[in-house]
Amino acid sequence: MNTHFDLIAIGGGSGGLAVAEKAAQLGKRVAVVEARRMGGTCVNNGCVPKKIMWYAANLAQAVDDANGFGIPAQRGATDWQRLVEGREAYISRINRYWDGYVADSGITRIDGAAHFVDAHTLEVEGRHYSAQHIVIATGGRPIVPPIPGAELGITSDGFFELPEQPRKVAIIGAGYIGVELAGVLQALGSQVTVVALEARVLETFDSMIGEVLMAEMHGQGIELQMSFQVAGLAKTASGIAIDASDGKRLDGFDTVIWAVGRAPNTRDLDLARAGVETRANGIVPTDGYQNTNVPGIYAIGDITGRAPLTPVAIAAGRRLAARLFDAQTHSRLDYDNIPSVVFAHPPVGTVGLTEQQARERHAQVTVYKTDFTPMRHALSRHGSTTAMKLVCAGEEQRVVGIHLIGDNVDEMLQGFAVAVKMGATKADFDNTVAIHPISAEELVTMKVAEPDPHPHHGIDSGVEWREAG
Ligand SMILES: Cc1cc2nc3c(=O)[nH]c(=O)nc-3n(C[C@H](O)[C@H](O)[C@H](O)COP(=O)(O)OP(=O)(O)OC[C@H]3O[C@@H](n4cnc5c(N)ncnc54)[C@H](O)[C@@H]3O)c2cc1C
Repeated sequence: MNTHFDLIAIGGGSGGLAVAEKAAQLGKRVAVVEARRMGGTCVNNGCVPKKIMWYAANLAQAVDDANGFGIPAQRGATDWQRLVEGREAYISRINRYWDGYVADSGITRIDGAAHFVDAHTLEVEGRHYSAQHIVIATGGRPIVPPIPGAELGITSDGFFELPEQPRKVAIIGAGYIGVELAGVLQALGSQVTVVALEARVLETFDSMIGEVLMAEMHGQGIELQMSFQVAGLAKTASGIAIDASDGKRLDGFDTVIWAVGRAPNTRDLDLARAGVETRANGIVPTDGYQNTNVPGIYAIGDITGRAPLTPVAIAAGRRLAARLFDAQTHSRLDYDNIPSVVFAHPPVGTVGLTEQQARERHAQVTVYKTDFTPMRHALSRHGSTTAMKLVCAGEEQRVVGIHLIGDNVDEMLQGFAVAVKMGATKADFDNTVAIHPISAEELVTMKVAEPDPHPHHGIDSGVEWREAG
């Protein structure tokens, strides 16, 4: 095997595969080093298996709701094994696709863990490989905090390895992974407790999102233990206990899942031998063009600590290859207004500034809000709130933030994110004729938010739907 390349990507995940693919398309000699399965976190223990579980949970909820629409349906216990087998078979197909794609694209695959020998040389399983350009795309891993009994808990990786459905499960952490796993497990029939240090779930999101989601989770029967500082886990006669620093104890869990964040995979790369600087937490800082402090070494994706999302890693990788090999000297990813979805129950979609961020940055901010029960739940026993907020800045009311929670907002957001990226104003939204009757029409018919002493959560918001039609 030839061991010198134009570009080597370390990590065959979202970012590494994207930069390698684009460079290969441009006729360059490219290699990808991957220590595990092709596809990285997203394919193997992130977005893909998570979304399969989310669909399973949605179907379970739909069965519960069917009777209200006159369709007799009753749920038994979830066939966890069948679900997991189906999910893993689907992932294997994606792995095989990537294995074939890498081979067909003329990309050299190097199996094993890479570490630096110097700025242009890597060692993998005792062999040396060199390249003019090296891209660090090694992603991250779940954090398990160094506290007593921590090993009694599993992480999101362990969740995807569970051979049986947990009966009584605690999820520690109320960020996006925590609330996603909580919604899935509760809908599939587990008894779920969310334990978190913060007072609100999804604390970094617009406050409306966390408030509505907490009410929804509570309504689904999820127990929320907020402002709870976990001091340790312990094995007891009834299972696993979670101890708080104030002496409180929650007991009887058969499964505890840590969802307290992810750490970058820099530890074993020997970056110092190449002179690459890292932050104390292992993040590899880059400039706006994904350059590290060492010429010829770049970083993309989760390792950079910016917007840890698959499409971000892919977009950064493709733009980097275009800059290096296609003379597109200004090709770079703009990290502003990146839309993202949390696959909670119900889902959350958000792009741009929160109301608070907008008030900190702009002198004039106008906020439009609505909440209602979507028609999907008109006849169902459980009900579910949809809430929406538009954050507008300046005299011209440019839409600088959209925050959504409710059924189908995951699919709703992408097109609206285009409008935000293009600099649309509230008037542009208002000038767009609504589609009726769908939840998204509310986004183009929204009124200024006023303090509402009697917020409505009922289908009486149907009045507004008729006005819009
Ligand atoms: C539970 C969960 C759910 C998620 N859901 C979503 C979602 O719905 N939408 C979304 O956009 N994002 C989601 N993400 C985030 C998404 O998975 C990441 O942002 C994305 O995978 C980052 O891509 P990356 O290329 O930076 O790293 P990764 O995809 O993590 O790839 C890094 C690869 O590098 C390999 N590697 C590490 N060290 C070495 C080494 N020394 N040598 C060789 N190979 C090495 C690893 O094995 C891995 O395959 C989710 C993540 C998790 C954990």
